[in-house]
Amino acid sequence: MVKIFIDPGHGGSDTGATGYGLREKDLTLSISKKIETMLINEYDNVQVKMSRTGDQTVSLIERTNAANAWNADFLLSVHINASGGSGFESYIYIGQFPSRAATDQKRNIIHDEVIKATGLIDRGKKEADFHMVRESQMQSVLTENGFIDNAHDANLLSQSSFLDKIARGHAKGLEKALKLKKKASQPLAAVSSTSVTSSSNEKANDEKYKVNKTLDGYYTAVDAKAEGNKKTTVTKGDYFVFNRSQGMVNVTKVKGMPGSWINPKHNNGANGPENFLIRVKANELWYYNKPDWNAREGKVKKREVFTVVDAFTVNGSKMYELKSGTYITANPQYVEKI
Ligand SMILES: [Zn+2]
Repeated sequence: MVKIFIDPGHGGSDTGATGYGLREKDLTLSISKKIETMLINEYDNVQVKMSRTGDQTVSLIERTNAANAWNADFLLSVHINASGGSGFESYIYIGQFPSRAATDQKRNIIHDEVIKATGLIDRGKKEADFHMVRESQMQSVLTENGFIDNAHDANLLSQSSFLDKIARGHAKGLEKALKLKKKASQPLAAVSSTSVTSSSNEKANDEKYKVNKTLDGYYTAVDAKAEGNKKTTVTKGDYFVFNRSQGMVNVTKVKGMPGSWINPKHNNGANGPENFLIRVKANELWYYNKPDWNAREGKVKKREVFTVVDAFTVNGSKMYELKSGTYITANPQYVEKI
């Protein structure tokens, strides 16, 4: 398990730098949450802790204490620059410390990925005596993501899609620097004994999803299921499905980018069919403990009958959710409606 501590700079009474109607504390929180969502949704064996998840005042010592107490493997502090200039720069601690070479190597990877993802001017890989990189016990990097008081940068920073790019650069950099493993996304064979494989290369995020009324949104599938913690709001409208987990669905306005987790059962079963019965046609058929072709739970046999409560596409192949809370292929070669 890789533990990544993300520190959205400033917050609460400390707005950080301001310019063009933007506040550093809002941008750093937004970028950090996007990085968190990407890491949690897209990678295995990663844990993320944030120094703040809302507009709270948190002192610098409280931030590094939290990272140190949690025993994080890596600390990323996210900032926006100001006072003359344009572009991106990153910092490690300027003093001597044991893991300096390793820290610098990771910083270089992250730095290059952010430049690649954002197209911001490269202001260089720097060193400074900043609290966050000095007082943290783990390897740590601080990034300054554009200048809030520069017209060109501020225009970019005012766009959520650009904050996505900043986050994507950091996530990609963290993936490479910390050797994070992508979650399995290739659909496995839906069926056992006849070992038929999915023929579709369609991406799961091509799946459309209609939200019929304003719903509570969450940052993780676990929170969505428990209906606690860190809420967002998902308004009525058309979305793409970014991911599914634990019966929850991550819906997004921007195809391929993570959005909010919602409980599809609160959406009036909008995308689901009326309940109906299916009968197994194959001799044996896998069923799954979650909407994930990798999550094989066991096999059912020919002529067994099940009640279907929902239907959707997972990695390009249709899947049914059964009343029992398990999942099965919807491929009419292997199951038939009765
Ligand atoms: Zn700052």
